[in-house]
Amino acid sequence: ATPEKTDFIRNIVREDLASGKHAAIRTRFPPEPNGYLHIGHAKAICLDFGIASEFGGDCNLRLDDTNPAKEDPEYVRAIQDDVDWLGYDWHSLRHASDYFDVLYLAAEKLIRQGDAYVDDLDAEQVRAYRGTLTEPGRNSPFRDRSVEENLDLFRRMRAGEFPDGARTLRARIDMASGNINLRDPALYRIKHVEHQNTGDKWPIYPMYDFAHSLSDAVEGITHSLCTLEFEDHRPLYDWCVDKVDLAHSPELVKPLTDAGLPFEAAKPRQIEFSRLNFNWLVMSKRKLLQLVESGRVDGWDDPRMPTLQGIRRRGYTPSALRLMVDRVGISKQNSLLDISILEGALRDDLDAHAPRRMAVIDPLKMVLTNLDPGHEETLAFSNHPKDATQGERRIPFSRELWIEREDFEEVPPPGFKRLTVGGDVRLRGAGIVRCDEVVKDESGKVIELRCTLDPESRPGMEGANRKVKGTIHWVSAKHGVPAEIRLYDRLFTVPDPDNDEGGKTYVDYLNPDSRKVVTGYVEPAAANAVPEQGFQFERVGYFVADRYDHKPDAPVFNRSVTLRDTWNA
Ligand code: ATP
Ligand code: MG
Ligand code: MG
Repeated sequence: ATPEKTDFIRNIVREDLASGKHAAIRTRFPPEPNGYLHIGHAKAICLDFGIASEFGGDCNLRLDDTNPAKEDPEYVRAIQDDVDWLGYDWHSLRHASDYFDVLYLAAEKLIRQGDAYVDDLDAEQVRAYRGTLTEPGRNSPFRDRSVEENLDLFRRMRAGEFPDGARTLRARIDMASGNINLRDPALYRIKHVEHQNTGDKWPIYPMYDFAHSLSDAVEGITHSLCTLEFEDHRPLYDWCVDKVDLAHSPELVKPLTDAGLPFEAAKPRQIEFSRLNFNWLVMSKRKLLQLVESGRVDGWDDPRMPTLQGIRRRGYTPSALRLMVDRVGISKQNSLLDISILEGALRDDLDAHAPRRMAVIDPLKMVLTNLDPGHEETLAFSNHPKDATQGERRIPFSRELWIEREDFEEVPPPGFKRLTVGGDVRLRGAGIVRCDEVVKDESGKVIELRCTLDPESRPGMEGANRKVKGTIHWVSAKHGVPAEIRLYDRLFTVPDPDNDEGGKTYVDYLNPDSRKVVTGYVEPAAANAVPEQGFQFERVGYFVADRYDHKPDAPVFNRSVTLRDTWNA
């Protein structure tokens, strides 16, 4: 059994269940569908869904679609695909826009209570009135409008009578508050924009804090987990929940129940944790969009992108991401983590689970001259050295093989343990060979090694135990399947591509070698992979069959990560 996790969020949940504050918990993951999810979101997903399921509760997927100008159904589809891929089931799929009627009625309630007013100041004036960290703000001249006037203006905002930005609905809290979020924040703004779900029904849209807090309350969310930048918003979150008091206002949720959506009021508690940030990466949606639009990467799912669609194609696994999130832990301290934590989790996960295969990515021909030209046999190889349950496969072996070019040196450097002329080396699982002769082309390049297989060194024989310096991998030339091998590497050449020093920006640090495409040969069992199947190509690295391009008769593999960290070596 895995030991109980005892971070501060799980401890709160545990106490709330033990004290009977909640009989069951519910969380939500609330992305805004304005871009693709990235590695940072994986942390939020693992916490929101993971904690709910650990404690027998459930988690909603809610698309926070209150900003229609920037949102797109393409993002909505990708978000659902990502959450599903990470292995989580949402209790219910919701949209903030499902609650637009409720939110509208809630706003009218605030107006009637004297807790909200329509302001005619424009954006610039609002900013000027807001004050600063050290200076209190000033009341808007429109702050003391009567309830009737406010209701009338708000209804006319809703009817579409005013142009964008002409008026806002603001909470009436405290322009002198030390927390700027409480200085009469906007609750609604006018925006004549079509919405992907509600069409042109609404010329006004609720602001984030208002929509988010009340959506949580409507859905019966008990623990609303979010990142640290919302800590200063928590008093406003609580203010909205308390002032609207959905639990005691059945008339506000009537549009929901009429539409057949369940209403399960809760007083949600917002809890903040630190964002996940890694060096060597750029995660801002704006910058990722720029990489895509400028053609510097091949789209949002380019295997070099830190999007979940990208790293999935790269060969990251859901279990590697969960391992990373567990290792990183939860705290209230923002920090920039080293990318080796991410890559290390992938290596450890693949090392434990990925089947082994043989593949040669820079092929050099080896001919075993003492075997018959038609010699063919199959050799048994275990799929995983540490996991017998993965069973065995048969690998064809014949007179002509491909080996890795770097495993041979005509003039070996000191300490070289692989093959040289007159030297011997073990062919993984097949026997020991000696190189007798090299064949070169006109330019002097070695194109073939002529070798002898020691007949006494075959698998299972006494002579197989003979000591030789090195073991190399191989693929039978007759049986090996040519494969497109995409050697991906880090997208940037520096650990801080965001540094903006000396007028440079992240695009100036793009790694020109972040993708190299070569043709190699893979054993038949690798070619037969299904898309997204991951492997360790022995001695070469971890690879995955491309999600979209791989076909058994035209295999395509992406390098997920090297066997060892070659950047911090
Ligand atoms: P970005 O700033 O990258 O656009 P965001 O916070 O605007 O991200 P949302 O779609 O609003 O993106 O995020 C959905 C949820 O994911 C929020 O609860 C947010 O706190 C969380 N989240 C976003 N980025 C990270 C991150 N780097 N680490 C942990 N959680 C994150
Ligand atoms: Mg955002
Ligand atoms: Mg956001």
